[in-house]
Amino acid sequence: MEMSEQLGAERRARLAAERLLQQTKSELYEANQKLASHARHLSDEIVSTRATTKRVMSEAEDLKDRYQTARFSLEQAESAIMIAERRLWDSLETIRDGFAVFDADNTLIAANRAYLAIFDGLEMVRPGIEMRMLIALMAEEGLVDTGAQTCREWQDMMLDRLKSNRIDAAVLKLWNGQYYRFIDRRTRDGDLVTLALNVSDQMAREGQLKEARLRAEAANRAKSAFLANMSHEIRTPMNGVVGMADLLLETDLDEEQRAYLDTIRTSGEALLVIINDVLDYSKIEAEKISFKSEPFDLERCIHEVVTLLHPSAITKGLQLAVDYDLFMPTTYIGDAGRIRQVLTNLIGNAIKFTEEGHVAIRVVGLPGETGSEYRIHVTIEDTGIGIPESKLDDVFREFQQVENDRDRAHDGTGLGLAITRRLVSLMGGEVWVDSTEGVGSGFGFHLTLPSVEDDEPEQISAPPWMRRAIVLDDEGLNQSVILKQLSLMGLSPTTVSSLDDIAAENPTPQDVVFVGQRDRDDLILPAAVALRERFNMAGLFLLVSGPYNLPKGEHPFDAVLQRPVLRADMMRCLTAIGSPGAVEAVSGEEAGSDAGADVEAVMPTVEAGPAPGADLRAMRVLAAEDNRTNRFVFQKMLKTLDIELVFAENGLEAVELFSEMRPDIVFTDISMPKMDGKEAARQIRRIEAEWRTEPCPIIAITAHAMEGDEAEILAAGIDHYLCKPLKKQSLIDHILTAQPLGTRPVMADVEGAVTAPPAVTLVRGLMEKAASAN
Ligand code: ATP
Ligand code: MG
Repeated sequence: MEMSEQLGAERRARLAAERLLQQTKSELYEANQKLASHARHLSDEIVSTRATTKRVMSEAEDLKDRYQTARFSLEQAESAIMIAERRLWDSLETIRDGFAVFDADNTLIAANRAYLAIFDGLEMVRPGIEMRMLIALMAEEGLVDTGAQTCREWQDMMLDRLKSNRIDAAVLKLWNGQYYRFIDRRTRDGDLVTLALNVSDQMAREGQLKEARLRAEAANRAKSAFLANMSHEIRTPMNGVVGMADLLLETDLDEEQRAYLDTIRTSGEALLVIINDVLDYSKIEAEKISFKSEPFDLERCIHEVVTLLHPSAITKGLQLAVDYDLFMPTTYIGDAGRIRQVLTNLIGNAIKFTEEGHVAIRVVGLPGETGSEYRIHVTIEDTGIGIPESKLDDVFREFQQVENDRDRAHDGTGLGLAITRRLVSLMGGEVWVDSTEGVGSGFGFHLTLPSVEDDEPEQISAPPWMRRAIVLDDEGLNQSVILKQLSLMGLSPTTVSSLDDIAAENPTPQDVVFVGQRDRDDLILPAAVALRERFNMAGLFLLVSGPYNLPKGEHPFDAVLQRPVLRADMMRCLTAIGSPGAVEAVSGEEAGSDAGADVEAVMPTVEAGPAPGADLRAMRVLAAEDNRTNRFVFQKMLKTLDIELVFAENGLEAVELFSEMRPDIVFTDISMPKMDGKEAARQIRRIEAEWRTEPCPIIAITAHAMEGDEAEILAAGIDHYLCKPLKKQSLIDHILTAQPLGTRPVMADVEGAVTAPPAVTLVRGLMEKAASAN
């Protein structure tokens, strides 16, 4: 090989080597570059990791601190809780009442010793036991007295009890005679907290109190029964005393004897009133009183009481006024008798304790919520001696009389208001008093009673053609009540002060005139006649208080009205007058007397009996009464009657005599030997049913005023019921009512004296007794 070729080959080899070197160099550089960047990166990472580690380490330090603090607090808290819990349990252990907590599933969590002691140290009674088990143990181990219940029933009852939201307390009697009251409450989480209070002492005291109360009640009932019996026993002989005094008064007596006898009679009657009060009070006390529910007219009821008490008010010169709310109904359902009794007590007191001025009875009412009921307010206001404020609370208590401290100028027992208050409260109302000593008193009561719709609503307006009412009356309450009444009825009332003033008013045919009676009756009559002659007024009325003395049928008045005037009576007077047109149609005088006759029919009149006929028989009266004195009184009371009176001494005899004599009326005592009046009445009714005859009126006469008896008496077929002491007039009234056709008049006519002696048949029983004694 040539040299150049060799050189060329060497050059080429060198060039190739140089190229390779160059390439290797650049690759090395690149690798170096990468390495350097990686190294840089690594170093960065190391720096940051180091920072993180440092931070984490500091945080860990921090946490460690915090943990330490927390642990410390926790330890402190735990110890505080322990102390609190220990204190709580120590306290719970010191009380002698049991305390226990159950969880929501009724498992015992904790209980104090007192609670555990209830279970008499039974080992299984400890936290973890279920309530169901506890109750079962109580019953089955005889720890508790389950009373009349069986073990099972008692357990069911106790478990049921826990189911309610508000658990009622339960008092349990334990085996050792102790009583525990269990009070259980659920907490918000449903736990059950139980408190078992030892109430043994309290129960013992309650037992003693109950026993004492029962003893006191029994004693009180015995007292009331004793009083009721005693007053009943006293009434019977008193009845004889009063009755005989009455009869004796009808005989020939000189002034002195009459005065003594009057005293006997009035004292006897006063005693009977007291006895009735005591009887009433003891009946209320013994809870033997019942109330009727019957329709009655309240306004009439008030007026009846007022009429009864009017004489005593007049004797004292007192005005007695009734102001009955014109727009209030008058018919209610209630016990009229009891309401009358209340009114009599209150109005009677007002009159008794008032020497001058007036006594006013005001009645107002408001419809109740249902509309058919009325809340009725009655006030009785007087201008009497009044009651000192310190005594106001006492007057309703029994036997409390203010006069005991003043001087005893008034009679009475001090029972009236006590009875009144009891009656009103038993009827669901209330009584009150308001009084100023020396000025007057106001007593009142309210009652809520169902009102009865009148079939025809009562008319309360005067005839439309009527204009004026001219009133001449004493100034005062009665006058203002009448004026109010008249103006509410649509008239324009004018008051005048003398008879001459009436003429000055020039009454027209559209006017009515009211003249109040004053002392000078004799003046009124001619003046009234003169008025009638001069004027053609629509009506002329006389207002009186109590008895009046006018020639019957010949006086110039259209009607006489008793003060206080019942609004129904006032209405009847006004509507009885014909309109002025009608007056002109007939002669003035006739129209006047016609209207008058109409109105006067309202007032009680005495009618003459039928003329005696020769062929008529005497009316037959059968009376059954076992008490001899009473028979005697009875016979004497009827001695002026033309009747055939037969006595029976007991019920059995009465029934026999009834079949024999077929009486027109039977009077019978209730309690009699052999057969009582009720049984006798039943048998008589049976006989009548057999005979198919009309029932004969049977009137019971009894000293029992017990209301309960009344229903029983009436149920036996008895028609009426009279209380002793007997009143001659009511016996006669019953006989007159029962008088059948075809019998002789029972009463001799008014003019002629009684001629025929009463046909009194001998007492059969007495005759028999006399016969058997021989
Ligand atoms: P009784 O009513 O039993 O016959 P009484 O009227 O004395 O006797 P209450 O009606 O209970 O008994 O009254 C008790 C007392 O209250 C009376 O004694 C009297 O002191 C006083 N009192 C009652 N009403 C009035 C009155 N309207 N004005 C003044 N005092 C009165
Ligand atoms: Mg009284």
